[in-house]
Amino acid sequence: MKEYFKAKYLALAIALVLAQGCARNPVTGKREISLMSTEQEIAIGKQSHPSVVATFGIYDDQQLQNFIKAKGTAMAKISHRPDLPYQFFVVDSPVVNAFAVPGGYVYFTRGIMAHFNNEAEFAGVLGHEIGHVTARHSARQQSSQLLSQIGLIAGLVLAPELGGLAEAAQQGLGLLMLSYSRAHETESDKLGVEYSSKIGYDATEMADFFGTLKTLSDRSGQSIPTFQSTHPDPANREKKVNQWALEYQKAHPGNYTAERADYLRMIEGMIYGNDPKQGFVENNFFYHPELKFQFPIPGTWIYENSPSQFQMAPKDGKSMMLFTLAQGNTVEEAAQNIVKQFNLQVVENQAATINGNRAMVLISRQAPQEGQQQQQQAQNANNTVQIATWVIQHGSNIYALHGMSYLNQFNSNFRTFQSVAENFRNLTDPDKLNRKPDRIRIKAAPRDGTLLEVLQSLNTPANYINDLSVLNGLGLKDRVTRGTLVKTLSK
Ligand SMILES: [Zn+2]
Repeated sequence: MKEYFKAKYLALAIALVLAQGCARNPVTGKREISLMSTEQEIAIGKQSHPSVVATFGIYDDQQLQNFIKAKGTAMAKISHRPDLPYQFFVVDSPVVNAFAVPGGYVYFTRGIMAHFNNEAEFAGVLGHEIGHVTARHSARQQSSQLLSQIGLIAGLVLAPELGGLAEAAQQGLGLLMLSYSRAHETESDKLGVEYSSKIGYDATEMADFFGTLKTLSDRSGQSIPTFQSTHPDPANREKKVNQWALEYQKAHPGNYTAERADYLRMIEGMIYGNDPKQGFVENNFFYHPELKFQFPIPGTWIYENSPSQFQMAPKDGKSMMLFTLAQGNTVEEAAQNIVKQFNLQVVENQAATINGNRAMVLISRQAPQEGQQQQQQAQNANNTVQIATWVIQHGSNIYALHGMSYLNQFNSNFRTFQSVAENFRNLTDPDKLNRKPDRIRIKAAPRDGTLLEVLQSLNTPANYINDLSVLNGLGLKDRVTRGTLVKTLSK
């Protein structure tokens, strides 16, 4: 599916170069070969949006959505391309990230929103992302082993209210992995300074935020790239951005603000980290309290949970499992739909019962896609993907659990797939069912002291202390004066 997307995209790009030739870059003013017309950029943003929504979900906080829209719109107006139909969203992901799609679609995760300590930090990153759009930076799609090797089945959507957006959930994941060249990143940092200053924010705050990113990147063992990982060294950026910010303010004297208290009050109550409602992993099990099921995760596998699907795979990327909602009124109907939708050749199928739930087990192969057929690529053990699918009825929902690998490795993986599927069962443990997310709580420091002393005087549990140091953008020994607003965490 990814290969297909690339091929289509490339053909389109070539067609457009021929049609359009040279165009003037709105930021640099230079003529350059432009791969996309404005209409094409807008079309790409529009096409990608549903898959972004299916992958992450929109964060349910109207005040926050209004805020990002208002600031984004104000900034777009003073940018080099004020006429694009910009759209701004906070998506429901704990990952610290922000990204822009051509055409003016800009996304911030709730994870990054939780880490800003004032509006100016947010505005700097907003300017950076709008900068990628206005300077027409073309993103490179980084392929991850997991997705590029066996990226064939795009999931249906677990959250029923999102049904129908399913198609390209994997494309959405790819969006998290967009990267730009270092030269483009530097140019966007400069634009971030310019745009955020123009709407009245102190861009030295943006520099400070790179300190937070540096701490996060030092601590991160996250499996998906975050905002900072494809970007230049944060320490270096911090210095440069600070310098550009001061230069801008000297050249354009005015009142540049940070708006700390307003920002902090706005994020009071925001969910921090994983929201257990969307499913969570603990002790090698995936639990879904809303849909009330659980299944195991093999030993050292890595995983990725999104509203549309749960994916997991061994680190070598040679096999993978995918859990999604299936469509149909019975397991038989759902199985037929899957076969049709993904153009599968069924090798065998049989009815089964999994811990009291009606099920069907299918073994199938993916038929070569159109175009590949022309090349007469013989189906062989190295390029044929074989899939074991368990279609499981659970309450009023039907799920599909796919285990896939290349044909020549299928037998050695099948037992692992099977042990996951056969341990799918009802979730009844009240401790898991009633799990509540952590939320950010804004408190006034009750005393003068170090951040650690202040957090302790607010009865902060020990396991939150390190996260709160990063969230507050302060070291534990940094001084905080009485009355200063600080972030704390509680259920
Ligand atoms: Zn960037």
